[in-house]
Amino acid sequence: TASLEQADPEIAAAIKGELGRQRHEVELIASENIVSRAVLEAQGSVMTNKYAEGYPGARYYGGCEWVDVAENLAIDRAKKLFGAKFANVQPNSGSQMNQAVFLALLQPGDTFMGLDLAAGGHLTHGSPVNMSGKWFKAAHYTVRREDQIIDMDAVQKQAEEVKPKLIVAGGSAYSRAWDFKRFREIADSVGAYLLVDMAHFAGLVAGGVHASPVPHAHITTTTTHKSLRGPRGGLMLWNDEALTKKFNSAIFPGLQGGPLMHVIAAKAVAFGEALRPDFKVYAKNVVENAKALAEAMKSHGFDIVSGGTDNHLMLVDLRPKGLKGNASEKALVRAAITCNKNGIPFDPESPFVTSGIRLGTPAATTRGFGVAEFQQVGGMIAEVLNAIAQSDDGKAPLVEAAIKERVKALTDRFPIYQ
Ligand code: PLP
Repeated sequence: TASLEQADPEIAAAIKGELGRQRHEVELIASENIVSRAVLEAQGSVMTNKYAEGYPGARYYGGCEWVDVAENLAIDRAKKLFGAKFANVQPNSGSQMNQAVFLALLQPGDTFMGLDLAAGGHLTHGSPVNMSGKWFKAAHYTVRREDQIIDMDAVQKQAEEVKPKLIVAGGSAYSRAWDFKRFREIADSVGAYLLVDMAHFAGLVAGGVHASPVPHAHITTTTTHKSLRGPRGGLMLWNDEALTKKFNSAIFPGLQGGPLMHVIAAKAVAFGEALRPDFKVYAKNVVENAKALAEAMKSHGFDIVSGGTDNHLMLVDLRPKGLKGNASEKALVRAAITCNKNGIPFDPESPFVTSGIRLGTPAATTRGFGVAEFQQVGGMIAEVLNAIAQSDDGKAPLVEAAIKERVKALTDRFPIYQ
């Protein structure tokens, strides 16, 4: 039994390179995090060898006694963490958990509503390039032009017009609070189901610093790898027993075969971590840090979409500097500050160019950054972007290299995976 290094030096080198990258960058991609050693260990375990089609106690394969322990722990911890009566921990990804909801509750051709991608929604909420938009009729609600906030009266009016069978709340780039109670009232008023996809802010819900959708939604879905800080995957939560068979059979055998038992074990570990008191402190810090970063960006002359943030992320509107999202992302990555270009509401630029970047605080907060560090990060972002705004080719090699050095010094103070 050779080590990875001996058996496959090329992949070992790629993983080592990736570890080095993560150690010496400021990670601001809002959907990423840095999992614990315990999560990594569970995911890299022998549970990857096991087939376990079915659910605990009712499997289509023998030898499931230990994976049943892991899956039951994951289910129990997820239910406790989010105060839900039922949980399915098997979705292999966030896309599959949402597909399962569509498979369980809709027929092809049915109409549903979701937040427009350009206003912060997700591909699986009805984008024309995604199955949700190809096989179902998506009617998108959006944000108000004046303040870039969802207009709930407009959502109500649209629901009355299009009569959706499902309304989806939640998104990937919306920085403001969601009114889950009102969404449920609107859904009830037109006889629709309410799905809340809390993938982005689930860690904040778990930590008690964000309202929970679980009491309001017919079905709540979340990825486990973003602010929740677990392995990559999905989770479904609901309270109505009458929906249990629909959701469970949509995942298996509807969409998936054998569940990823090593990932489920790692999900259990992450849910256990999120149940501990220090996760509440983490979640509170994520939000405080996001507010500090948003204020820092504003103080350097950038606009923040909707004027600020209530959660872990923000969209920076680069137009006051005459910059585009694509060139800005590239310059920041050269300076070891990792983020992604992102369309802003009513963006005049194409999705490949964009007028914005999306910044999030979950990952750097995990490594220990506080308000002071995020203020520094805001300053470094501004230095890089101001420099490329002055250049002809979108590049500022001297400034980028200098910031990269400062990022190295900063990240050395907050080591990961020692
Ligand atoms: N839902 C939301 C709101 C997301 O932001 C994402 C991921 O970006 C997903 C679903 C899909 O998750 P995955 O990338 O695991 O398929």
